[in-house]
Amino acid sequence: MAEHKTEIKDYFTQPIDDLLKKFNVDQQVGLKSEQVEQLRSEYGSNALKEKERRSIFAMFISQLNDALIYVLFAAVIITFVMGEYTDAIIILIVIIINASLGVFQELKANNAIAALQKLSNPKAIVKRNGEQLELPADELVPGDIVILEAGRYVPADLRLLENANLKVDESSLTGESVPVEKDLDAEIKTDYTAIGDRLNMSFMSSLVTFGRGTGIVVATGNQTEVGKIANYLAEENNSKTPLEIRLNHLGKTLGKLAVGICVLIFVISYFQGRDLTEMFLTSVSLAVASIPEGLTAIVAIVLSIGVTKMAKQKAIIKKLPAVETLGSVNIVCSDKTGTLTQNKMTVKELFTFGDQLIDVDSEDPILPEEQLLVEGMFLASDATLDGEKKTGDPTEVALLALADSWSIDRKEIHKQQERVDELAFDSDRKMMSTLHKKEGEWVLYAKGAVDNLILKCDRVMEHGEIIPFTDAHKELVDKAVDDMSHKALRTLGFAFKPVKSKISPEEFEEDLVFVGVVGMIDPPREEVKDSIQSAKEAGIETIMITGDHKQTAFAIAKELGIAEEEKQVVTGKEINSLSVEDLSSKISDYKVFARVSPEHKVNIVKAFQANGNIVSMTGDGVNDAPSLNMADIGVAMGITGTDVAKNSADMILADDNFSTIISAIEQGRNIYNNIKKSVIFLLSSNVGEVLAMLVAIISGMPIPLLATQLLWINLITDTLPAVALGMDPGDKSVMEEKPRSIKENFFSHGAGWRVILGGVLIGILTIVAFVIGYWEHDYSVFDKQIPEDIHDYARTMAFLTIIACQLFYSLSFRHEYKSIFQVGLFSNKYLILAILMGFGLQLILLFIPVLRDSFRLQLVSPRDWGVVILLGLVPLILNEGIKVFQRMGRK
Ligand code: ATP
Repeated sequence: MAEHKTEIKDYFTQPIDDLLKKFNVDQQVGLKSEQVEQLRSEYGSNALKEKERRSIFAMFISQLNDALIYVLFAAVIITFVMGEYTDAIIILIVIIINASLGVFQELKANNAIAALQKLSNPKAIVKRNGEQLELPADELVPGDIVILEAGRYVPADLRLLENANLKVDESSLTGESVPVEKDLDAEIKTDYTAIGDRLNMSFMSSLVTFGRGTGIVVATGNQTEVGKIANYLAEENNSKTPLEIRLNHLGKTLGKLAVGICVLIFVISYFQGRDLTEMFLTSVSLAVASIPEGLTAIVAIVLSIGVTKMAKQKAIIKKLPAVETLGSVNIVCSDKTGTLTQNKMTVKELFTFGDQLIDVDSEDPILPEEQLLVEGMFLASDATLDGEKKTGDPTEVALLALADSWSIDRKEIHKQQERVDELAFDSDRKMMSTLHKKEGEWVLYAKGAVDNLILKCDRVMEHGEIIPFTDAHKELVDKAVDDMSHKALRTLGFAFKPVKSKISPEEFEEDLVFVGVVGMIDPPREEVKDSIQSAKEAGIETIMITGDHKQTAFAIAKELGIAEEEKQVVTGKEINSLSVEDLSSKISDYKVFARVSPEHKVNIVKAFQANGNIVSMTGDGVNDAPSLNMADIGVAMGITGTDVAKNSADMILADDNFSTIISAIEQGRNIYNNIKKSVIFLLSSNVGEVLAMLVAIISGMPIPLLATQLLWINLITDTLPAVALGMDPGDKSVMEEKPRSIKENFFSHGAGWRVILGGVLIGILTIVAFVIGYWEHDYSVFDKQIPEDIHDYARTMAFLTIIACQLFYSLSFRHEYKSIFQVGLFSNKYLILAILMGFGLQLILLFIPVLRDSFRLQLVSPRDWGVVILLGLVPLILNEGIKVFQRMGRK
């Protein structure tokens, strides 16, 4: 390996031929499979060394680094010194289980994020064995021939071999924010030349912002310039979502409140002359029981399960906060081509001045201009098509297919007319042109949006002759485009010019000869119409944004149910003539934005946002990055999207499909609701525990729940159903609701009320059970002389009742207003399992003598079991009763 490193060290000062020889590679063919294998075993994967993951042990230790845990440790020591070994051991076990759960949650969340990152890893176009392939970038080896295009990441360090106006953003490496123009012929004499000045090179992790090129890989993985930068870390994605931050705050506030209450209880009991060590332990465990420490852990688990599920359904969340925002989106702006349509284009009609409109399926080209148009169009394309195998822009693939259907020998024509220069397509110009050498002369071919292209033409071709462009010609073109657009065909114009000498790209697109227009169909995706309808019912408006012609856009929008009337369509040109304020005030009248450029997209997002909308915007190109950043949810295309767009997006559509956005919104709403259910449940349980203790202590009763019992409740009864609620299966009816307001508080829609109601009820019922426990044995809870086992019996009643209340009550949290039967009693199997496990564990505690004694429990009479169950059902029944009124109110 060391040998190779020195061999290719001076790759930017050497002649290209020497480099190719060294790697034994032909620029046109690329590496052979055997070579790749050998180089791969030598150099390894083209991946940057990841930051070392924290070990599980380190994670465990950091879980223990928590003020609350310190208090518990103190409690362990004190109980130990006092000789209360069982209590000490139980608290210790609680600490360990708690920390293990924390570690599990951290691992789960990390893995989910790592898996998501993997899904959005960049790909590279490579020539191998004479074929052009798209591979994950980490499979590259030194010597690979790589093709660079605008919008792609440079996948390794490359010495450039071909350069068609390449501009590369190297800011990640050099800090220089202006893209660098590359120069193949730059003579670089010394090895010490700064990275930014090595103009014949392109470096891993920079972004191609313009043009095309090829290069040979000279360094991969950690041998690359970026790999050499010490401590280079892949951007770490441990940002907390706003929801998590808010809940953290809430947890802290509640924590402080709980500690305050504990101190209060401690002080009161001191004056009441209670047993101080017992009170100390009780206060400590009450603190633990009341602080919802499980809160953030559960939210993280629910989020990571949710995003993993979304990824399986083709929506890859890149930025976690997006999950939350998704639920509030009410405007979905979508590209047309490929997202609303299938991106499977086929040329249907062809217009030239000689023959007017012909149907390409039933007629063959007979006129010279028809022949020229078909040849020139595929020559000015970068896509490839070989039988079923195709790469590149589907618009161009359709042009290649047209040539094939007319039995044109593409290979032969490519050979006769070698491409010498080009001006790449961009969505502002909406054109692309290439310069070719043909029998010692030069010819330029240009294809693009007809309205733009026509402005660059001063002549036309008619019956093989080049004549001046007249108004009559213009009218014919307009009519042809109109006809095709009304049939929802996508139109593309073609022009050319013969030139005497080689011209520079600035002179390409002027004084052209207009030849004709092709019209291609791109059928709408079948599932999209339903998605648009269901979005509408969910209060979400779909907006079409397209670079395509106004009429074509309207025809498809109408078919899909996006727009009904032509006045809902506006073009980029019309937007230009509006002020920012005018656009904002009119924006809600428009459903289709046609012939727009990426810059318009930013203004469209802004205008919608100015009206208080939460906007999602799709994008794929380099220039879409600003609008993706500006939108509340930027959505990049997974298949056709550039790395630049993916980098700026909050979410990536693995299948480029509009319907996936709508199902992601549905998922987002469900995930948010599930988190809310968990949190509200946890809080109401905690309120119940604290209240029961407070009431008992202030009114001078004995302690209704012991330290170890409280810890048990906190760990088992609370956590199991809370996690299960977070995994609630999606509720279809979320798409019958309006989007959630972004300002909406977590406790709105009666949630806060349910916390208080549930908490107070649970607290009271626990005390009731406690008091009944004494009555059963003819004691009053306020009697002075009560035998210890009667205390234990009463506490067992309180313990069983609070657990029963919480377990049953959890069922009611599954829906705000639907009854437990309407949502399906057994439709969340995890919750049923959690409840069964909760009860099962109580029985184990009760019926295994050692455990029973450690928790100071007593066996209760069958009648008292009845009391426990009846009391336990009260919060559930009451809440279900309230829902009946809520449902009547909604009607
Ligand atoms: P959307 O914005 O919905 O994806 P679109 O694909 O039509 O729609 P652009 O890619 O910006 O948007 O294309 C705009 C116009 O540019 C097209 O209507 C077409 O006339 C022209 N065009 C598209 N692709 C090419 C190409 N490869 N070469 C030349 N012109 C093209």
